[in-house]
Amino acid sequence: MSKKVEKTALVSSKAPKPTTFSNERSHHVPNSEAKSKSPSPPPSASPKFYINLQDLVNIEGILEGLVTAFKQSESASYEIDRWWQITDENSIIRIDSLFRKEEAKACLREAVILEAAGVSLSEFLDHSALGNDRARQAVNDLLELIHQNILVLIDIVLHRLPNRYSINSWAVTLQTITYTKRTNKCSKHENMQLLATQNNLIKQTIQEIAKEHTNPGSVLSKTVRMLLYTIIQIVRDIEHFEVIKARELLRVAVEEDIEPPALNTTESIDYEIEIQLAEAPYLPATEEDIYTLVLDLDETLVHYYEEENEGKFLIRPGCHEFLEEVSKFYEVVIFTAGLQEYADWVLDQLDHNKFISYRLYRQHGLPTGNFYTKDLSRIGRNLARTIIVDNMAENFRMQPDNGILIRTWIDDMTDNALLELLPLLKEIAMKKGRDVRKALKSFRDQMMRAIARGESNPHLNLHLDDDL
Ligand SMILES: [Mg+2]
Repeated sequence: MSKKVEKTALVSSKAPKPTTFSNERSHHVPNSEAKSKSPSPPPSASPKFYINLQDLVNIEGILEGLVTAFKQSESASYEIDRWWQITDENSIIRIDSLFRKEEAKACLREAVILEAAGVSLSEFLDHSALGNDRARQAVNDLLELIHQNILVLIDIVLHRLPNRYSINSWAVTLQTITYTKRTNKCSKHENMQLLATQNNLIKQTIQEIAKEHTNPGSVLSKTVRMLLYTIIQIVRDIEHFEVIKARELLRVAVEEDIEPPALNTTESIDYEIEIQLAEAPYLPATEEDIYTLVLDLDETLVHYYEEENEGKFLIRPGCHEFLEEVSKFYEVVIFTAGLQEYADWVLDQLDHNKFISYRLYRQHGLPTGNFYTKDLSRIGRNLARTIIVDNMAENFRMQPDNGILIRTWIDDMTDNALLELLPLLKEIAMKKGRDVRKALKSFRDQMMRAIARGESNPHLNLHLDDDL
């Protein structure tokens, strides 16, 4: 982290142990056709499937890094940890929700399970454990196949995107990645067949490796032997395995202190902490014509991180000015899916001047699927005068017309997304429009036209018609 960044970090040794937040979740793509099929026990299943495209970029990068590390006989433990972490948090483990046909679902499930098996294998079969060149070559081939498989999988996801996501920068990045790195190119109709073929190749390669190492003469540790037997079992009965179950078995087999699936992010459901949903309406009554601005916290206003076991957070550039300005026109409400103890710790430090009127926390979010949805209708404000700004579109999926999706912020100190939002928010409140949803729609339409004209900053210079 740069010095510039450190300067703006607020530090406190008294940080309550906040939940790890889910980061980089700015681009979730809903697939309206797909049905959610979560193998973990969500309180209520979401009808839509969302996948984070930015995570897919990272997963592909990690797998490529793994191939390189293995070829160069270098340790890949960092990549492997990152892989487990990202795939735990990403809905890629429910990728089969993309399709309805069981055949396609099974093919996608297999690809994801085989990826987990391959990553687990690479963790333990490093060059020291591999007796000969042939065995080493087999693991090399396996990792390359798995990398190629994720490229096909990404291509399948890209072809399922609704058109409006074609301008999403992560979708464009993924298109470039698949175009430049895929060795087997085919039409979109042949992708699934290719995935099935590659799955079979991966299974064969895994079986070869397992055979090599499970013979009585091999000198592998108990852990590796146990892992190999688990993988053999999973590969043999792969059609009967759910992704979550297979991952669980692999984790037990590697006998590592790997944390359980990281569902306890601020923005996703935590099954261990039971929090009663608060009673609506959340806010006390106020004048009818007040405009309310609901703001997300993590990755919208701040970014939490830990350094040497100490909780710290960075404040997004322009945050103070933004809060001060919007509070002149709006009643400002923070709505976070984080725990109250954590959010209060951040907000007490962030909001010295009390620009924020109310705070809503996890107990105010509706548990839906793996996420807490921020249902604006429960707040107790007129929806025609309420706007939400969040870095995750799925958080406001119940009132998408009220939402402004802001890009996820981690530590880019040149970011100016908050300040760029100011004129738009001011204009809506100052013109006293009857319905903020119509105003936001008008802004969106203008932006799309600016994009179509090829303007480099389509989000700037937007104006409201007087009749809105
Ligand atoms: Mg957020």
